[in-house]
Amino acid sequence: MKSEAKVVVIGGGVVGVSALYHLAKKGWGDDVVLLEKAELTSGSTWHAAGLLPLFNMSYSVGQIHKYSVKLYGELEQETGQAVGFNRVGNIRLAMNQDRMDEYYQYAATAKTIGVRVNFLTPDEVLKLWPMCNIDGLVGAMVNPDDGYIQPADLTQAFAKGARARGATIYRNTHVLDIEQAASGAWIVKTEKGDIQCEHIISASGNYARQTGAMVGLDIPVIPVEHQYIVTEPHPELRRRKAAGLPELGVLRESDGSWYLREENSGFILGPYEKGAPCCYVDGPDPKAEYELFQEDIERLEPHIEAAMNRVPAFAEVGMKKVYNGAIAYTPDGNPIVGPAWDVDNFWLNEGHSFGITAAGGAGWQLAEWIVDGEPTIDMLGVEPRRFGDYATKDYLIEKNEEAYASVFEIHYPDEERPAARPLRIAPCYERMKALGAVFGQKFGWERPNFFATDGMPQEDDWSFRRSRWFEAIAKEVQNTSTNVGVLDMTAFAKCRIAGPGAEAFLDYLVANSLPSKDGGIALCHALNSKGGIHSEFTIRRESAESFYLVSAGALQRLDHDYIRRFMPKDGSVEFTQLTNSIGVLVVAGPKSRQLLQQVTQSDLSNEAFRWLTSQDIEVAGVDVVAMRVNYVGELGWELHHPIESQNQIFDALFEAGADLGVKPFGIRAMDSMRLEKSYRMVGTELSIEYSAYESMMERFIKPDKGDFLGREALLAWQQAGVANQLVTLEVMGVGDADALGNNALTLNGEVVGRATGGGFGFRAQKSLALGMIKPELAVPGTQVEIEILGQNYAASVVADSPFDPKNERLRDVNDANV
Ligand SMILES: Cc1cc2nc3c(=O)[nH]c(=O)nc-3n(C[C@H](O)[C@H](O)[C@H](O)COP(=O)(O)OP(=O)(O)OC[C@H]3O[C@@H](n4cnc5c(N)ncnc54)[C@H](O)[C@@H]3O)c2cc1C
Repeated sequence: MKSEAKVVVIGGGVVGVSALYHLAKKGWGDDVVLLEKAELTSGSTWHAAGLLPLFNMSYSVGQIHKYSVKLYGELEQETGQAVGFNRVGNIRLAMNQDRMDEYYQYAATAKTIGVRVNFLTPDEVLKLWPMCNIDGLVGAMVNPDDGYIQPADLTQAFAKGARARGATIYRNTHVLDIEQAASGAWIVKTEKGDIQCEHIISASGNYARQTGAMVGLDIPVIPVEHQYIVTEPHPELRRRKAAGLPELGVLRESDGSWYLREENSGFILGPYEKGAPCCYVDGPDPKAEYELFQEDIERLEPHIEAAMNRVPAFAEVGMKKVYNGAIAYTPDGNPIVGPAWDVDNFWLNEGHSFGITAAGGAGWQLAEWIVDGEPTIDMLGVEPRRFGDYATKDYLIEKNEEAYASVFEIHYPDEERPAARPLRIAPCYERMKALGAVFGQKFGWERPNFFATDGMPQEDDWSFRRSRWFEAIAKEVQNTSTNVGVLDMTAFAKCRIAGPGAEAFLDYLVANSLPSKDGGIALCHALNSKGGIHSEFTIRRESAESFYLVSAGALQRLDHDYIRRFMPKDGSVEFTQLTNSIGVLVVAGPKSRQLLQQVTQSDLSNEAFRWLTSQDIEVAGVDVVAMRVNYVGELGWELHHPIESQNQIFDALFEAGADLGVKPFGIRAMDSMRLEKSYRMVGTELSIEYSAYESMMERFIKPDKGDFLGREALLAWQQAGVANQLVTLEVMGVGDADALGNNALTLNGEVVGRATGGGFGFRAQKSLALGMIKPELAVPGTQVEIEILGQNYAASVVADSPFDPKNERLRDVNDANV
């Protein structure tokens, strides 16, 4: 066995072998090795049903699946190994309007990434699927380009393609442990000897947690039991075959939570049942191979019944076999593909519940990332660092079972799943709840999304359209923009970077100039090496050698791991995690100064406390850092305080503010207000897919300040010409639905861009969207069309910040002291 390699892939399922193939394709063939403890495909891969759904609501996963399906169509020709790809299409039935809305929203994403989607009436369904009972159908959509494949053959094709490019596969080679040499190199220990390597890819399927534990990582993957039924042949399917008729497409009744496809003139029925339990909670037996569990027919019954109702022929055939196998899951149901945290050169390709479909795209992007240093598509949706330490074993069990049971639920844009909640709460949680808060969850934290008042039920109302909470946020915006509002942002990620090397290090990490005076604040972006935006930080200079960094709560592990990667290793810079010890309350609105002035002795006038500065002040007897910034475009302060004193501040604010009309507001009101200010957000407007200049961030980029991460690439990208430009759009004529993001922007029927976000601006009284568009169209006044839930609306490019473009409210220009 080889003793050295550049990359060792652990796991010979379809996911690992695809990663090996793609590394070999990138030219690393002679230097890549795959280790499989038993035979290739002996984990979950061999028993998969082989479906290749292009459908996915996530922009990242949608692109991964698209790549896979295209590649699988070419693999047989390239490798000579048949893969059994039947491109029969995939029909999804809708039994209600919300489901149709989901399909329309998906179709918009599909259009922006170039995936074909057609819509069908019930009669058209019948033509394509004559054995389908169309009673109760509202409509359907079809992905004509997907179908199903033979998973084991696909894996063998990848293996053949990888070997042909020099890659090595060792079967029956169990990875027992992983150590790290002083040089940083990994030493992979097997019963057949050790291999030293630069990179490891963990693609160990149901063993993900054990493999992670070898390097001290707690991987947020626990599998769930998943079953499907194979039936005896049906005479009608036999007749169709004999008559040379095409095979029926995959049929999915999402509302009944099952799929059906043809298999040897019989059927395969695959349900996603409620109550399917997690399995291998402490890992499978090290020796497990080709393992199946005892079937649970009772759990299958409601789905069998639903399928019989929809396809009566299904009731006419006998059950041949039930497969019940382990399917890897994460709390949100998407895989984790990318670098691990806290360790270098350890890559995760785990948690795949649609692994046959995702294997191609995941391998492609990992190979790009490892060989070229960056992925080429925005991978946030599958980013391993989107989970944190809060994802303990008990949490994973609850959430992964929920994710499995939710596969066929309608994925509303404002969906907030209930399992394992509340988990992390700010001290003011109960007070917010008493004020009517309806919470959402980010990175385990409960955050008020909106407030139910005036007799409104204190519960969410998910929809693709304006729903009950539309009225609630109208009131919150109204109060925040005329009186004063309080928002809990304790979930922000916070840390301190200090030490003699802190300033030089941060200056290299971010593209903006650091604040030069103590107390100064700057909005700073850490680019990736290609000039896209990776992370956004508000940086406060505490002293010449100490900086306080705040970033999005959901991205805590990602942002902090990014900092760690670039931090000098000589001890000159120290990182301190502050997220859990500091709470944040935002006080915003024209009366925010009046309110705060009653609870602090410090002078908050425009002269004494300028916009975009911060000060250490005392509020209600508590030492806080007050920053005169906010994300809603009103006069206001963020109060960063010791978390244990939060309620002291909270109570003082609400007591002092009673006469000023102080009221809480939530994340959804904040999002509406940030749209009106054209404020960008990481993950939508700011992404590694767009250059920082395409996101129109020139104000925050200082190419003349000296070298910084991504500078050369950014300038080269700009010089070569950019393909997109971020614009704000006003959407005309909408009734009950606004843009949600991922909407196609078209001109004369041709896609010219995509909306990255959207919603209603209550202060501007306009339906708005932010979006990327071809630069030649990024001129105020340009008219395009935007697709919202299947309908096209006129949209005009407008100047940035349709509300208060001169920032007069933030600066409070009417203040007598100005
Ligand atoms: C019933 C069922 C139906 C499914 N249907 C579909 C479908 O229709 N479409 C779809 O896209 N997906 C489907 N899936 C999911 C799909 O099977 C998985 O997502 C996919 O197989 C995952 O592949 P993998 O390579 O990540 O994992 P696996 O196939 O489990 O491979 C992991 C490999 O790692 C090896 N390994 C682990 N630890 C070590 C170690 N220490 N040393 C060496 N080797 C090690 C294991 O032996 C194993 O071979 C289905 C799953 C089930 C259970």
